[in-house]
Amino acid sequence: MPDVYVLPDLPYAYNALEPYMDEATVRLHHDKHHAAYVAGANSALAKLDDARKSGNFDSIRALSTALSFHASGHALHSLFWTVMCPHSESKEPTSGAFLEQVNKDFGSLELLKKQLSAASKAVEGSGWGMLAWEPMAKKLIVLQVENHQKLMVQGAVPMFVLDVWEHAYYIKYQNKRADYVDNFWNIVKWREVEKIFDAAVRV
Ligand code: MN
Repeated sequence: MPDVYVLPDLPYAYNALEPYMDEATVRLHHDKHHAAYVAGANSALAKLDDARKSGNFDSIRALSTALSFHASGHALHSLFWTVMCPHSESKEPTSGAFLEQVNKDFGSLELLKKQLSAASKAVEGSGWGMLAWEPMAKKLIVLQVENHQKLMVQGAVPMFVLDVWEHAYYIKYQNKRADYVDNFWNIVKWREVEKIFDAAVRV
């Protein structure tokens, strides 16, 4: 079975996010960790294909879990790389539909950042801070996603994610996740978040 999922190239150089996110971390994170999720998702799909062909579904729980974990990891990392940029290009929005929605749902961009920072710092174990568009309520919500898939709201569209697995910060920040989260705001590509928002609300 040919590979379904493919590791995307980084949209910038490995050292482009320095000094807030170091080159060694980005290199390992993209080339090893993200690549492993892509491989894991492809492997799960291939094994499910085999199971259907053989009629043996004894491993269905493990394979279903692996597909959910690895494909979600691939999706979130793919988004993660695109919502970051070099510090010199990182500019907070001062107007527009995204900022208006943020003001409506959080009070201000500053309060959204505070809530997302607090949520990210307090994720239990490995996971993500997430800003998502929740289409039933037509509202932006902040979530703490554990691993890559737990505590998600079904149907919500992730538009901004902050990886707080230790592999995302341990080389540079050691155990100081809070410092990593505080520094992360220096490399957010808000223009991309606005584009994702514009696409999500149209669906
Ligand atoms: Mn990661």
